[in-house]
Amino acid sequence: MKNAEIIIIGGGVVGASVAYHLTESGAKDVLILERENLLGKGSTGKATGGVRAQFETEINIKMSLYSLDVFKHFKELTGFDCDYEPRGYLFVATDQAQLDFLKVSVERQKSLGAEGVEIVDTQTISRRIENLNCADIVGGSFGERDGFINPLGVLEGFAKKAQQNGARILNETEVFSIETRNGKVSAVATNYGKIECEKIVLCAGAWARKLARSAGIDLPVEPLKRQIVWAKSKTNFQNDLPMVIDLSTGFHFRPAKDSINEILFACSDRNETPNFSTDFEESFIAEVYEKAKHRAPFLCETKVVRSKCRAGLYENTPDHHAILGGCQIENLYFANGFSGHGVMHSPATGRALSEIMLGGKAEFLDVLCLSLDRFAKGELLRETAFI
Ligand SMILES: Cc1cc2nc3c(=O)[nH]c(=O)nc-3n(C[C@H](O)[C@H](O)[C@H](O)COP(=O)(O)OP(=O)(O)OC[C@H]3O[C@@H](n4cnc5c(N)ncnc54)[C@H](O)[C@@H]3O)c2cc1C
Repeated sequence: MKNAEIIIIGGGVVGASVAYHLTESGAKDVLILERENLLGKGSTGKATGGVRAQFETEINIKMSLYSLDVFKHFKELTGFDCDYEPRGYLFVATDQAQLDFLKVSVERQKSLGAEGVEIVDTQTISRRIENLNCADIVGGSFGERDGFINPLGVLEGFAKKAQQNGARILNETEVFSIETRNGKVSAVATNYGKIECEKIVLCAGAWARKLARSAGIDLPVEPLKRQIVWAKSKTNFQNDLPMVIDLSTGFHFRPAKDSINEILFACSDRNETPNFSTDFEESFIAEVYEKAKHRAPFLCETKVVRSKCRAGLYENTPDHHAILGGCQIENLYFANGFSGHGVMHSPATGRALSEIMLGGKAEFLDVLCLSLDRFAKGELLRETAFI
């Protein structure tokens, strides 16, 4: 097997973005190793493609604002369409504490440059979303630049452009371990044998922890199942329906892309324990319909499209923020732990990693707060707006 200067482990949207940004910055010998027969078969292929700048922490907001600009110009940058559709995200609050939280977050988002984000009152919400039960809603926030992209479109754009720039991609190549020599990475062991390299970036999503451990590093990334119910209505939904998120229950729904009468809905399960199962649970259907009954009764008229329902894995960290950058093993880098935001943050992540790997530091955005050592130092971040 031909050696490589830089090995990227994992061919999801994050690995592809890192490859794109590295090769755009002049890196010549970049190799993506993916164990599946195609890119995108991990969490990227399960993602629903929501993008938003409505976060609580400065770093998540900044990562989103940068990434939204990239999605807007994605075709000019990569030659591929990512179908960015700014339909908006509406968060609804059912008590004053939630509304206060949204107010503080919106002010922070605006102060960091977010445009078109505002606090909205109950009347505005009820006008904007036909047939939403607003009886217990005290207000909300709406971000008009938030919306949807096609996760596999983003992956394809980054991966194809990286290949045009000279990156190589090897599918059906599973990495078993990361090898080190004198405190520095030296190779990966794969089903095709050893591949020597100068630098490694671990982009293996929910499966990254075991590989990090092979190099002696504890990467606190755990797999958490997330499920989506896909349903179809006999009648069309309003054509400007945004993503709607109920802060009190985590219940959310959004229109399916390219369809006026199909909808995706879900809720987070705070009791889910880490495991690698991606089996869709039938009982989840009743669970989300129960939540829909209260907030959006019109969804109860829909019929489940069982073949499109899905379950995938979040790659979760203890503080629900990504882990970006290096560690005590020289030339070993991580781009993991996005906790549900990996597609939307893939542009900022790729750029940050490429700047760190080629220049020692992310210049366009200070991402030091996302370093792995924050866990050892007890400097965890705090994001409440995760779903
Ligand atoms: C139901 C659901 C909905 C979601 N919705 C959204 C959303 O709306 N917006 C958003 O931004 N994010 C969303 N996410 C999260 C998002 O999907 C992930 O954060 C993102 O895809 C992570 O990308 P990744 O490239 O790091 O991981 P992945 O896409 O999982 O890629 C990792 C790759 O590494 C490969 N791999 C693993 N181990 C090895 C090995 N040993 N050797 C070689 N290859 C290996 C895997 O096969 C995989 O292809 C959602 C996730 C789920 C499950």
